[in-house]
Amino acid sequence: MGHIKTRRKFSSILNKLGVAPPVFKSNSNRIVAIDYHYFSRTRVNLEDLEVALSVLDKQLKIISTQCNAQETLYALNMLKKEEHNSDRPCVIISIDDADQTVSEAVPYFVKYRIPLILFVPVGLCLGIGQLDGLRSKCFSLYHESNNISKSLPEFANKNIFFEKIMSLNYTNLKSLYYELMNLPRDISVILQRNLLSLSKIQSLNENPLITISSHSMSHCVMADLPESWMNWEIYQSNKYIKELNGNTEIFAYPYGYKKSYNELTKSLLKKNGVKYAFSTSSRVLTPSTQNYNLGRISMLNFMDKSYVMGTAGGAFEYWDRILGR
Ligand SMILES: [Zn+2]
Repeated sequence: MGHIKTRRKFSSILNKLGVAPPVFKSNSNRIVAIDYHYFSRTRVNLEDLEVALSVLDKQLKIISTQCNAQETLYALNMLKKEEHNSDRPCVIISIDDADQTVSEAVPYFVKYRIPLILFVPVGLCLGIGQLDGLRSKCFSLYHESNNISKSLPEFANKNIFFEKIMSLNYTNLKSLYYELMNLPRDISVILQRNLLSLSKIQSLNENPLITISSHSMSHCVMADLPESWMNWEIYQSNKYIKELNGNTEIFAYPYGYKKSYNELTKSLLKKNGVKYAFSTSSRVLTPSTQNYNLGRISMLNFMDKSYVMGTAGGAFEYWDRILGR
């Protein structure tokens, strides 16, 4: 991640030039969605995904005094109606993946009265003690395997694999799970993390500042999935989100880069009643932004005001556009 320090400079410079925070633009009808993943009490190991809690404290302090941090669904609905007015840069904040360190970050959001939305990979949070949790884990293991057609040729076809997983009882699925565990694979970051349990997520959701929404079941790249499997990721995760009193109108694509979702994903989201979906492309949100292409800007582990305000002002839109992302 040699880009990290350059990104910091980029954001700060644009901020100082007055390009990033809308000095020349009105703050109305313009929202920057900021995204976090993991938090750390001490040293940050994953530079692009982790923020130290002490840094988070400073960032949220800056945001609470300089920006207008709003509740996600409210802000998006107002933006779409072109009734979004703000005298300060408007931000909405999300945290992806429901990592256990989120519990330690929440008190800082409470301290500054900043609303946040948690995007939950429901199946991975269920754990393998439950059938849907075990299914989700099998799906993510399959997704990580680097040569399934060689190691398990009978499952080279994703539709066949999906049907098989859905048809097995718990005991038989557990045997297949161990088989998948032993395949050569590239382990993704999320499978190395300890995620919050659904009961813990439910208790977090009792806080009026917090909204919970779906980040799929198994955190696979949506565009790689056949229709029935993709639909299950959306439908089933929202079934749980509804039971937890979360918001089923908002969704965040796992990974969220440009090619991680496609037209089929968008149409299935629509069919399942989802109104808005977030990617991870750095784009400022305006009334003309498509509902299923909502960009977000990830906040890195820096706490200087020019970096934070550059990010909150949407500096990375220029960064991603330059890199064609
Ligand atoms: Zn994620």
